[in-house]
Amino acid sequence: MTLRLVLAWLHLLALAVGLGGVWARGRALNDSLRHPADPRAIRRALVGDTWWGIAALVWLATGLWRLMAGTEKAPSYYVQSNAFALKMALFLVVLALEIWPATTLMRWRRKKAEPDARDVGRIEIISYVQCALVVTMALAAVTMARGYGARTATPAPAPAADSSADDSIRASASQRDSTEDDPPTPLPSGTEVVTPADVDLLVREIAMPLDGIDPTTLHSNFDERRGGGTRQHQALDIMAPRGTPVRSAASGRVLKLFRSVNGGLMVYAADSSERFVLMYAHLDRYEPGLTDSTHLVRGQTIGYVGSTGNASPNAPHLHFAIARSADVKRWSRGKAIDPLPVLLGARAAQGIGSR
Ligand SMILES: [Zn+2]
Repeated sequence: MTLRLVLAWLHLLALAVGLGGVWARGRALNDSLRHPADPRAIRRALVGDTWWGIAALVWLATGLWRLMAGTEKAPSYYVQSNAFALKMALFLVVLALEIWPATTLMRWRRKKAEPDARDVGRIEIISYVQCALVVTMALAAVTMARGYGARTATPAPAPAADSSADDSIRASASQRDSTEDDPPTPLPSGTEVVTPADVDLLVREIAMPLDGIDPTTLHSNFDERRGGGTRQHQALDIMAPRGTPVRSAASGRVLKLFRSVNGGLMVYAADSSERFVLMYAHLDRYEPGLTDSTHLVRGQTIGYVGSTGNASPNAPHLHFAIARSADVKRWSRGKAIDPLPVLLGARAAQGIGSR
């Protein structure tokens, strides 16, 4: 948490310092054009340039750290965000624009070349253009943080097919240890908060989506790292034979029948309070007649366990996720909640087999 805050703070600070630095560079070069005999203007430009360079390094280092260490959202979130793509494109343009000024200013620093008016003028203009691009990048970053600009219907690119099928199956266990990639749980948009009242409600309304599974025999794999360690699983995998009926874990309605590269056949559903999105993935097939707007009663069959998407064919299972939603119409958005404690709470509250 502390690291996350420090990185976010340095990242933002670098943007501010860099903006000031490159603006100061442009201003100083403008002064230099107007007072060519005064060497102080060029010196000020070089100072601004130094701050610009330091800021760029800090910005890049903190940005990569946040992306790679997963201190913020999983990389798959950024990969499928248009706003993130825009931010990165702008960054590359700023970087490309900097190549010639950086080498020219380096020559001035090392006294290998004297500043001439034409170069000074060009670097001044480039500096102002970079200022404008950095300001636009800040807008893209804010947009991204608010969850706008996500390509909701586009799953992340498929990872390599699971080649460790034999390793991932444990015949006697009802769960698996797996490193295979899993479908993304609805992604946070930054506005969802899970309150104790939410958990209470879930405990009262949720039931195990597969028959004959005692949640006390499962272990949580919510926090497991997936995607080569780059993101959290944020769901519960429940092993079951192919064709096992998948029951709606709560009353409510279907939001979306969706097929994704990772998740295969998926059902996104809302609970009756419309506060939560429930997601079921890797289904072998849907229950006939199920549509995007089917009303659901808890325990109703919605589909059958399978291994569609990137699940190992040898290890059919249900990938079950719960997310707190700010608006269930945005079915791919929400804050993930570990299903297992909810199912354990439900079992205790409702008694076994009270469905
Ligand atoms: Zn899973």
